[in-house]
Amino acid sequence: MSQHPRIRVLLVEDSPDDARLIHVLLGKATEADFAITHEDRLARGVLRLKQDRFDVVLLDFSLPDSFGLNTFLTIHETAPKVPVIVLTSLDDDELAAHAVREGAQDYLVKREVDTRLLVRSIRYAIARQAADDALRDSEQRYALAVQGANDGVFDWNLRSDSIYFSPRWKKMLGHAEDEVSPNPREWFERVHPDDIPTFRRRLSTHLDGESGHFRLEHRMRSADGNWLWVLTRGLAVFDSDGKPLRMAGSQSDITARKVAEEKLQHDALHDDLTSLANRVLFMDRLSCALADFERAPEQQFAVLFFDLDRFKNVNDSLGHPLGDKLLRGIAHRLEHYLRPGDTVARIGGDEFAILLNRINDIPGAIHVAERIQELLGMTFSIDGHEVFVTASIGIAHSATGYRSPDEIMRDADIAMYRAKAAGKARYEVFDRNMHQSAVALLKLETELRLGVQNNDFAMHYQPIVDLESGRIVGFESLVRWMHPERGIVSPNSFIAIAEETGLIVPLGWWVLEESCRQTHLWQSRFPSDPPLFINVNVSGKLFMKPGIVDRLMEILESTNLLPESLRLEVTENVVLEHVDIALDNLNQLRAMGIQLSIDDFGTGYSSLSYLQRFRYDQLKIDRSFVSRLSHGSDSRAIVETILGLANNLGIGVVAEGVETAEQAERLRQMSCPHGQGFWFSRPLTADAAGNLLAAGPEWFTGDGGLPA
Ligand code: C2E
Ligand code: MG
Ligand code: MG
Repeated sequence: MSQHPRIRVLLVEDSPDDARLIHVLLGKATEADFAITHEDRLARGVLRLKQDRFDVVLLDFSLPDSFGLNTFLTIHETAPKVPVIVLTSLDDDELAAHAVREGAQDYLVKREVDTRLLVRSIRYAIARQAADDALRDSEQRYALAVQGANDGVFDWNLRSDSIYFSPRWKKMLGHAEDEVSPNPREWFERVHPDDIPTFRRRLSTHLDGESGHFRLEHRMRSADGNWLWVLTRGLAVFDSDGKPLRMAGSQSDITARKVAEEKLQHDALHDDLTSLANRVLFMDRLSCALADFERAPEQQFAVLFFDLDRFKNVNDSLGHPLGDKLLRGIAHRLEHYLRPGDTVARIGGDEFAILLNRINDIPGAIHVAERIQELLGMTFSIDGHEVFVTASIGIAHSATGYRSPDEIMRDADIAMYRAKAAGKARYEVFDRNMHQSAVALLKLETELRLGVQNNDFAMHYQPIVDLESGRIVGFESLVRWMHPERGIVSPNSFIAIAEETGLIVPLGWWVLEESCRQTHLWQSRFPSDPPLFINVNVSGKLFMKPGIVDRLMEILESTNLLPESLRLEVTENVVLEHVDIALDNLNQLRAMGIQLSIDDFGTGYSSLSYLQRFRYDQLKIDRSFVSRLSHGSDSRAIVETILGLANNLGIGVVAEGVETAEQAERLRQMSCPHGQGFWFSRPLTADAAGNLLAAGPEWFTGDGGLPA
């Protein structure tokens, strides 16, 4: 097979001799293969033209079913895009010229024709037709462009290398009619330097015939020196050799749209309130930093993730508008402090993240963290209020070795939680161990969820003893997690997680119900006066629940326990952190007859004066004081003070963690009414506790409280 182009020719010719001649001539052609389809009537030719594709039509004028110009017009209408070459005899020369004016590409006098002439005519006809079509297309487009009255139009004659710019084109750029020369270089000079490489590339691609059209959004300098966003569109017309002759097109002002787009883009990547980067942008920058680091390991970086300590308090006490202003003030300080290459983002409510590029080592990142603490610690004056904040900062450094930005954020977050847990207003640098414990924590969380679902819990009970008489007056109920693999798990290892995950709520209701049920059972089996009471630990989360009072009422009703037998143990911090709700709930509970016990008294940040304010029924002296009773006199003084005050206020006292006979005796001498601890008994299963009750006054064997 030859590599030559294949040209499909429709020959419409009624004279067999002339048809053979054309066959012979084209058969000799070397520069192309001609596939000739021959028809001898116009009607058949038209039919063919409708069915098949042809590159060119060779048309005899005088056919049995048509004559003259009409022959051409019929063919031309049938396929306006297929070039037609008219074949004539000498005597209808005039007619043929007419056909050319009507759109025929060429005419040839049959007797003069030879291979070279015929082939050249065919090839030119095809090329010209293509150029005409392109021109028609582009002319339609200019017409469209000009119709849009706002568009400027240009028409570049590439042969003479001069450009016509329409008045509107010039006006768009703020130029008067005579201010713009037809020199194309002036055009390029007006294009923004950042856009010019693309502009030139696209232009040459188009002029080389490699792109269907030229289209580019770019900036142009206007007469007053400002930059305008424009959309330039253009289309070139080529000659038969593929050389561009002319390029014309339009220019529209798209500045308004671009500005809107830029604003949209800005908004999508920035935080409304502070105008700092948002999470999306931050993660993007972090990806870049990571990629740079992978390419060039000396390009280290660090992420500081932090959250304001007690920001909620600011919001609650001073109001949201002030909280917002504080956040903006913080953003402002951070931005001023950081270096241009760094990114500071607001990730959430009071959470910020900072990407430090080019930070050499961990001490470098720590230095920044310390500086941030200082910045936040300087007072902000907002609407006449002096506010300052502290933050807990987690640091993750590229040296740890990361594969994804999410991993970095996760670790910075873990470190931040560490800092918070360690007492706030601090920073922590992430290390691998933290990750391990975070993973372990997550596992525990999942298991706990399951545990709550399956109710893998049991209540243990520890006697509360009247120190004078030695009798059991009540119990504290203590929850145990009966873990399928780990065995009995102490509440110290899961209550905090249960609170964080909210699982404490379903668990807490169950604890209350079970404790009340059990106590009522004991009360009816072992009646006493006053009846046995039960101390139940209640988490802050549960205590703050709006429906707690109603729910407690239900529980008491369904278990038949008198409210006076139930004592809720809460830690002092729970009450202090939500004074308003707490007071409200407290009063309602008290109105119901339920008693309130303050747990671990002396370890929180309340002072003795709070005892009066909240009018608790009972306080439990933390075991740290009890254990030190035998050593110095400090603890003894404190315990004596507490006991004295409680006595004055008519509040009951339980000393926790009594471990020795000596401690029990001291407390008795100090007139501490009740005690609880390993000396008397460890927490017991319900059955074992029931056995103690069944033993009556002789329950205590004085063997250190170890259950028999
Ligand atoms: P807590 O309320 O202060 O409970 C007393 C804790 O001290 C219990 O630990 C108890 O076993 C332990 N203890 C009792 N006597 C002694 C002693 O003589 N020496 C020493 N060293 N320890 C003694 P447990 O059962 O591990 O409970 C730990 C904490 O978990 C409790 O402290 C309480 O705050 C919480 N907790 C227990 N059960 C529940 C519950 O059902 N709900 C909630 N929200 N918290 C609970
Ligand atoms: Mg307790
Ligand atoms: Mg306690």
